[in-house]
Amino acid sequence: MTSWHEKRADGSIACTLCPNLCVIAKGRTGICRVRRNEGGELALPFFGAVSSISMDPIEKKPLHHFFPGSTILSVGFLGCNLHCPFCQNHSISQTTEAPARRLDPEDLVALALKESSFGIAYTYSEPTIHFEYVLETAKLAHAKGLKNVLVSNGYLNPGPTAELLPLIDAANIDLKSFEPEFYSGELGGQLEAVKDFIRECARTSELEVTTLVIPGKNDSEREIAGAADFLASISPDIPYHLSCYFPSYRYSIPATNPETVERLAAVARARLRYVYTGNVHQGTSDTLCPACGNLLIRRRGYETSILGLSGPSCSRCGTPIPITRS
Ligand code: SF4
Repeated sequence: MTSWHEKRADGSIACTLCPNLCVIAKGRTGICRVRRNEGGELALPFFGAVSSISMDPIEKKPLHHFFPGSTILSVGFLGCNLHCPFCQNHSISQTTEAPARRLDPEDLVALALKESSFGIAYTYSEPTIHFEYVLETAKLAHAKGLKNVLVSNGYLNPGPTAELLPLIDAANIDLKSFEPEFYSGELGGQLEAVKDFIRECARTSELEVTTLVIPGKNDSEREIAGAADFLASISPDIPYHLSCYFPSYRYSIPATNPETVERLAAVARARLRYVYTGNVHQGTSDTLCPACGNLLIRRRGYETSILGLSGPSCSRCGTPIPITRS
């Protein structure tokens, strides 16, 4: 395992894990709050500190093209390397004070096997800042025949990305905006780094992407068209989720109108084959054959029915569908 940090002569530590590139003075932590300089050495005081754990429908990640209808052991941690003022999970992502229990990688893998889960999803808060833990657990999970699912902001440097992604079977990555100024001004990050991660993830893993649509912030047709064009330039088969925002953390902007999300989904569908809406009561979350319109998978809430697939293809017209089933 590469350590992704350098010790400096003055006792500080330069962390190279994510594009924030923190230089951490003795006794201080990085921006993510979980990587600490203790006496000139990198310390990981939250290694294995699990804030949330649950068997979830895979559709909740959301992943619609990977083991549809399955449940997966889902685990969350503490801290984040971005600071989204609308974070829906800020009670665990923007603090390290939330309750957590220790679960070593071996314990987590054993729990997944005990629960008969097909894998482990690293989710809820930002898993990549717990790089060493996720890497170790993912290796153990693969050795036991389990799948690894990453739900992340995709804000990781290329070196650690190349080390981690070969262990990740499927991922949902947030594309929080397609405006560099929004990333830098509101979230404390860089859009280009997230785009690089998405490109790499599409190469190594089964990738889906999510944008939380926030009124007045990232909800223009131009912006969603730009995001969808970017994804389509990688592959028009990348499933794209557009979700309704609800007021949370520092944002009191009223919730997204579901009609807005449906209108933006139509913009994205002109560019991508599989576009879904989420956090919407009657959203469009069914999977249809892009060639003949056959209903392949029906979703009602978290109830999933596979109706029109024959193996990996549409049962009506035979078009191959990029869906991995158990
Ligand atoms: S992982 Fe944490 S400490 Fe390292 S550069 Fe990113 S925010 Fe800073």
